[in-house]
Amino acid sequence: MTVYNFAAGPATLPDPVIQHIQEELPSLQGSGMSILEISHRSQMFDDIINTAKQDIKDLMHVPDNYHILFFQGGGTGQFAAVPLNLATNHHKIALLDSGHWASRAGDEAANLGVDVDVLASTKEQHYTELPKMPHPISSADYDYLHITTNNTIEGTAYHTLPEHGDVTLVGDLSSNFMAEEYNVQDFGLIFGGVQKNLGPAGVTIVIVRDDLVKHVDHVPTILDYEKFVKKNSMFNTPPVFAIYATGLVLKWLKDQGGIAGIEAINRKKSSLLYDFLDNSELFNNNIKKSDRSLTNVPFKTPDPELDKQVIQAADEAGLKNLKGHRSVGGMRASLYNAMPLEGVAALVDFLSDFEKQH
Ligand code: PMP
Repeated sequence: MTVYNFAAGPATLPDPVIQHIQEELPSLQGSGMSILEISHRSQMFDDIINTAKQDIKDLMHVPDNYHILFFQGGGTGQFAAVPLNLATNHHKIALLDSGHWASRAGDEAANLGVDVDVLASTKEQHYTELPKMPHPISSADYDYLHITTNNTIEGTAYHTLPEHGDVTLVGDLSSNFMAEEYNVQDFGLIFGGVQKNLGPAGVTIVIVRDDLVKHVDHVPTILDYEKFVKKNSMFNTPPVFAIYATGLVLKWLKDQGGIAGIEAINRKKSSLLYDFLDNSELFNNNIKKSDRSLTNVPFKTPDPELDKQVIQAADEAGLKNLKGHRSVGGMRASLYNAMPLEGVAALVDFLSDFEKQH
């Protein structure tokens, strides 16, 4: 039975990447040592990390005045790192509350003593649409504006960035990193763990504009952008395997036609599922159409008991990890970069058959 893994992250990886890892695992580049064993100070790893950086630069067209950094600690680590490094002038940030993860980022900044101004929230609409900018904002008031480009749990995404005047834009791209095109220059800083679209768990990519990198007192070293820039992300032992595996996914992404290529495939995949859901009399996705995510598609039947049956029967049919987040319920299909179109077609066939039988 072919298995398709719709997990929200860690998530499915491209088959050729898994095969490559398997073949190369005992002996990296014929060295007689595994990637699991080599030093991060070795020439082999130096090449791996620098190649990964260059491939990110190529894929996202990262301008020369941006740094590409690798951290541990996930998106959650960056919820602390960003305010610690960037909220240094006004100690005040703006935030659009588009869902659980935006709210968590705001909580962490507030926890660190930063004044968090929630400009707009769609919490009352259960985050079924995106909050829009209520009024113009200025850098005279805020160190930056935080947005979550893709709301993993709720299934919305900013396909067009909100107007942010001259305020530095910080984007949490955790769940659509390199799954759809953004212009890096529109952001002062981008971050996201790779475990959804780009690799296994363990490494977080940060892309930050040079003028935002400066010495700040009392920032823990492990979250300090200036130190990570100076040491090429190797201030301490980096997650060697995760960076290696991400490097392989980046090569695979280039083979898919880069981000434009994969975005076209991701649009096809998500349209296939949304079109089915919109025509179904049993299943429903209640997200405002223009705000729908390409990578996370939540849906439900009218009956939570029936939802449980869907998840169970799908699992038995090889369609894994369709359970929605506990805060939303129902089902969620995560259609990240490595989910093939055939996987989505298999899901739609399954749901269509289920609907006929119920
Ligand atoms: N932001 C978003 C949008 C997420 O989806 C997640 C994880 N699901 C996080 C942040 C937290 O990331 P991590 O688990 O890497 O700390």
